[in-house]
Amino acid sequence: MALDARTQTAVRAAWEALRPEITEKFETLFACPELSCLEFRSAEVLADWLRAHGFDVEAGTAGIPTAFTARFTSGSGPRIAILAEYDALPGLDNLAMPKRASTGRLPGHGCGHNHIGPANAAAAIAVAKVMAAGVLGGEIVVIGCPAEEIIWGKLALQARGAFNGFDIVLTSHGDYQNGALSRPCYAAANGEFRFTGEASHSGKMSARNALSCTQTALAKVGSVLESEYEGLQFNYLFRFSGFAPGVIPDEVRIWCAVKHEDFDTMRAGYGRMESVFQDTAESFGVSLRSDLIAACRGYLPNDVVAGVLSEALAQVGPPAWSAGDLAYMEALSAACSPGEPFTLHRTLDYFDSGIDYYAQDDGDISWQVPLGRVNWAYPDTVPIHHWAWTALSGHPASYPGPLMASEALALAAVELLVRPDLVATARDELDQRTRQMHVPAPEFGLFDVLTGQPEAFWDASWT
Ligand SMILES: [Zn+2]
Repeated sequence: MALDARTQTAVRAAWEALRPEITEKFETLFACPELSCLEFRSAEVLADWLRAHGFDVEAGTAGIPTAFTARFTSGSGPRIAILAEYDALPGLDNLAMPKRASTGRLPGHGCGHNHIGPANAAAAIAVAKVMAAGVLGGEIVVIGCPAEEIIWGKLALQARGAFNGFDIVLTSHGDYQNGALSRPCYAAANGEFRFTGEASHSGKMSARNALSCTQTALAKVGSVLESEYEGLQFNYLFRFSGFAPGVIPDEVRIWCAVKHEDFDTMRAGYGRMESVFQDTAESFGVSLRSDLIAACRGYLPNDVVAGVLSEALAQVGPPAWSAGDLAYMEALSAACSPGEPFTLHRTLDYFDSGIDYYAQDDGDISWQVPLGRVNWAYPDTVPIHHWAWTALSGHPASYPGPLMASEALALAAVELLVRPDLVATARDELDQRTRQMHVPAPEFGLFDVLTGQPEAFWDASWT
């Protein structure tokens, strides 16, 4: 790193002083898991914390009640945004115990966003402490980003200008490896579809049967997409399909998602799905309402930012798990993946080949502003989006990973603030990678529903 030893020591000391506050925030957010666009308490906890450390906080960024922007400025220099996520997943509650201890009905941090918000915000606080000492110029900003789990929040924020003017965006996430990423992930789109027909007795069914229509449409879409779009993933669930088998409902709602390595193929597949739904609805005399929630690109890699993150990680070292932490993770693995050998990535690596399996709502941002991401590892035998990930995210055994990421983000942000040349090179790389490409504005929908009646979105009663 270009950072002199004195500045490095100052950043690390500022970050180290925050450690107890960070782990306290991990616990606080874990204890109040909130669904996308309902993260009022989580956003408030993080915003209050940043305000207490001298950040200028604006709540409700871009008209989204559970978003916020927290800035710290000192003189002039690069403008760096750090993303904070804090939403939970439906049905993935679990106690922080190495066994299934859940209702399977309540929200839980099965993606570990209780770590991301505090870890990423703390990196910004540490940078602000060094800025306040008069060593650095520029701006460090935490963008509080709701609704990652429905791949919506950052697309809505971006489309409404929340990332305009930034030079670099940094973030982190739990996964199965420790290190910096410069590789793509999947493109994805999801939306809600509402088939409306005529209610009837199940023994005297109407021809305009919304339930039969939906089932027929789903079967058709599955085979059409499989034959026409190689590699396209298609998932769906019923949001509302009636109350009793004896009553055919007049309305059925489904939530569908598609994923593909290539954005254009993914988007074409989504359009094909809509047309099959429409044709099927017409053949049943049923009406169809289609609402896109969001369509997101995979990451555009950036080797320059990933290189800075990688050097910062090398200073910090891999997660410092204790024997007790490892014992907890082994016990949890035995409970959720019995008979499988316990494996955990314990070193640091650099990931710039292949593609990651997930889709993220910050994918589009990486096409607008150079974006870098640090991952920390969970055991290979602890599935993500699963009660076991929640069980680990609430236990101190999981803390060394996000703490590593937090400290590395702080060091990397300071390195970028003192090296405007690196910031410019990262921008050049993005421009090179997108040369002669038209990248349209982010696509998202249901803004009024998700910001105005999020509870009704989650119980599928919105109109
Ligand atoms: Zn996540």
